[in-house]
Amino acid sequence: MDMTDKFYDVVIVGAGVGGGAMANRLAATGARVLVIERGTYLPREADNWSVKAVFHDKKYTTAETWRDRTGKAFNPSTFYYVGGNSKFFGAATVRFRKEDFEDLEHEDGVAPAWPVSYDEFAPYYDEAERLMGTHGTAGEDPIEPPRSGPFPHPAIGHEPEIQAIADKLRVKGLRPFSLPIAIDRHEGGACIRCATCDGFACKLGAKNDAEVRLVGPALKTGLVDLVLETKALRFLTDTTGRKVTGIEVEQDGHRRTINGDLFISAAGAINSAALLLRSANDAHPNGLGNNSSDQLGRNYMAHNNTAMMAVNPFRKNGVTFQKSLAINDFYFANDVKPYPLGNVQGLGKLQGGMLTASVPFIPEWLMDRFAERSVDWWLMSEDLPDPENRITLDSDGTIRVNYTANNLKAHRELVKHWSRVMRSLGYPIVLTQKMDITVSMHQCGTARFGDDPATSVLDTNCKAWDLDNLYVVDASFLPSSTGFNPSLTIVAQAIRTAEHIAANVLRAEKVA
Ligand SMILES: Cc1cc2nc3c(=O)[nH]c(=O)nc-3n(C[C@H](O)[C@H](O)[C@H](O)COP(=O)(O)OP(=O)(O)OC[C@H]3O[C@@H](n4cnc5c(N)ncnc54)[C@H](O)[C@@H]3O)c2cc1C
Ligand code: SF4
Repeated sequence: MDMTDKFYDVVIVGAGVGGGAMANRLAATGARVLVIERGTYLPREADNWSVKAVFHDKKYTTAETWRDRTGKAFNPSTFYYVGGNSKFFGAATVRFRKEDFEDLEHEDGVAPAWPVSYDEFAPYYDEAERLMGTHGTAGEDPIEPPRSGPFPHPAIGHEPEIQAIADKLRVKGLRPFSLPIAIDRHEGGACIRCATCDGFACKLGAKNDAEVRLVGPALKTGLVDLVLETKALRFLTDTTGRKVTGIEVEQDGHRRTINGDLFISAAGAINSAALLLRSANDAHPNGLGNNSSDQLGRNYMAHNNTAMMAVNPFRKNGVTFQKSLAINDFYFANDVKPYPLGNVQGLGKLQGGMLTASVPFIPEWLMDRFAERSVDWWLMSEDLPDPENRITLDSDGTIRVNYTANNLKAHRELVKHWSRVMRSLGYPIVLTQKMDITVSMHQCGTARFGDDPATSVLDTNCKAWDLDNLYVVDASFLPSSTGFNPSLTIVAQAIRTAEHIAANVLRAEKVA
């Protein structure tokens, strides 16, 4: 599609969760919207569910190289497709807690309050769950924030092995609950409840990712254009620096400029920061939107994440879809420690080959034996915003992820305690692997929103303080990472921003 001869009211960079939700909501306003996506559609094919293709050959992962803080190059496990990283997500669509929107004291510091309260955000969570088609049971999660009603769909339920664990946990005084999940698993739904969901793409299109639930319906309205294999290189501004006038893109090896009225960066927390840094000009010498605060790219967070296999050598685990159960008893200060530890949730069922992809020296037959007999968990603890944890660009343009993990003591306690719980339930062998810098799946925080231009990049509607027509609507806006999966909150914020733009910006322009 040649979009250089067209003029768009809104141009969105990135067809992932944030960009998809924006396009979806703005489609209803009658605005002319263009979405620019560097990737293509991910083909629905047998390899979607192949451990070899996904984990060993990394068929779908970007081949891009980034660098860590020491300058060491690494290949990030990130995905550039229509739908963004959500093509491979585990579909856990969880609300942050009321307390996450307030100052929350952790072992290693304070997670800062948000500029909006949970109560203000809650209606957008209602809408986000509806858009994403979340399954869950209201009232089960012991620290559930207030909600206006039931989930759009009932919980997907536990298979016998997981139900047995839930029952045993209850006997121990814990309060396990159904993890809210966005898959098409209900009467008439296309999901067959397979073992290759979390970390894989869905070959049936039954996972409620951003392509299926957000971008696809937006395109169906006929009001949104999507251009593929087009990489945004930099935003261009007028001489005052207040107004973005266009985006320079690379398409088919050529550079072109796309014009528009209003621009939205939704390239993901790392790529949005890189894009704005790359857009530096005379009016914005340190990157677009960075004049007031010098916060652009800073406060990068990605969670402390550990995958755990709890093995009972004498019993096979016949479960197929394991990501149905979660535990929040340690999310805040708790009986084990007087500070928050994090969330525990089922991990998609591990297979031997998935483990040997990252630990190649252990024979696959041994890992297969373990995986057949294991219950697998994802343990997630909050990491705290640190201005020195930041995305920068090297002189050759390569993205550098300067990151040193923090709040690690709490995470180690969570891993230690959950290992203990697993052993007490009859799983004597516990193997853990902490995720490293290559696993940037929960990347966030690089352009945080706030109510003070001196300490935030975006205002409370996600507009860059320093510009009149530039918004950032992806995981970049999060001022704290919380201990939960981010995608539902990104969708909720996009809905909120789209509502603001529709009511106050597009309408105002039409009136003028
Ligand atoms: C294996 C895995 C499991 C996960 N599980 C869960 C889960 O269970 N629950 C959950 O909530 N979250 C999960 N996540 C995280 C979730 O997928 C992300 O938080 C979410 O997708 C981030 O949305 P975003 O809009 O910020 O960015 P993305 O979804 O990454 O979208 C960014 C889009 O921008 C495009 N893009 C980037 N740069 C450019 C450019 N310069 N020009 C044009 N286009 C560009 C990308 O191709 C992409 O489509 C998981 C992620 C992974 C990888
Ligand atoms: S569990 Fe359902 S949604 Fe997930 S990959 Fe399998 S069929 Fe698709």
